[in-house]
Amino acid sequence: MTQDIEQTQLTHPTIKDGWFREISDSSFPGQALALKVDRILDIVKSPFQDILVFKSTDYGNVLVLDGIIQLTERDEFAYQEMITHLPLMSHPNPKRVLIIGGGDGGVIREALKHKDVEKIVLVEIDETVIRLSKEYLPHMSSGFDDKRVEVHLGDGFKYLENLQAAESSNKFDVIITDSSDPEGPAVAFFQKTYFTLLSNALSDSNGIVITQASENVWLDINKLRELKSCISEVFPVVNCSYCMVPTYTSGQLGLMIASKNKEANLKTPTRSLPRKMENELFRYYNKEMHKSSFVLPNWAANFLGEE
Ligand code: SAM
Repeated sequence: MTQDIEQTQLTHPTIKDGWFREISDSSFPGQALALKVDRILDIVKSPFQDILVFKSTDYGNVLVLDGIIQLTERDEFAYQEMITHLPLMSHPNPKRVLIIGGGDGGVIREALKHKDVEKIVLVEIDETVIRLSKEYLPHMSSGFDDKRVEVHLGDGFKYLENLQAAESSNKFDVIITDSSDPEGPAVAFFQKTYFTLLSNALSDSNGIVITQASENVWLDINKLRELKSCISEVFPVVNCSYCMVPTYTSGQLGLMIASKNKEANLKTPTRSLPRKMENELFRYYNKEMHKSSFVLPNWAANFLGEE
């Protein structure tokens, strides 16, 4: 629970000498990212993870789960827009969207920009993340009260198992896995069984899924290749994209997108908006960014089998 001491006296093991340090020997050995702290806003030990929210001097409010940066107010839009609009602009007519994770509300905010989307279901295991986002990240959590949004508190993996078991007709056109990294509660999202559940939860052969790949080509590219081959056992088309986010380690995050349609070309948007509208709706995404996000350096493209 939040330490019941004055906010000014809050302390956290990742913050020393006024700097937050993101260090993970498993995910990015030998390197770390530091952000200067203005003040700690909240610390909660939830049943699922350690949650830290602090106000940084230069990146706005920051959400940290188990010591790993999830987002900062300054650069979150890059990730939220790409993980949302890459699949939604690749689908011919998306009506129902499922978000696994995403308790900060950023993907909901972006999905709501698509007026033809009729239903957005979010499945988040930790209600504390939603509560803290509403309190400290108002620009991200603005969409939770929209009438098209339905929030389920629970494990995303179990939600998909129940959907399959119920042979529910309530399937989805696009499924976005906006989870934390493959440690803690999100570990199941990086295994083949999960992608089989995703495939079964898609409404038809136009169905598209995307997941935050937790890695990028400069970190452990082997893990990216393993994830791509795991998804390829279930989906006929799988491509690796990425977005530039200064506060994700190495300044970028890989995204893995897949389609049930073996003819799908995910690297070019199926739908696009006039430039003026793109500028009004998005700060990062546009049709050129869509295409260029799949362009990788030679060594990475060869290693990942991306022509
Ligand atoms: N943008 C971030 C990233 O790329 O790392 C992800 C942000 S979002 C805060 C991650 C969310 O996934 C968290 O709110 C976490 O509670 C949720 N989550 C983790 N495991 C989950 C599970 N098994 N079922 C549902 N939500 C889960």
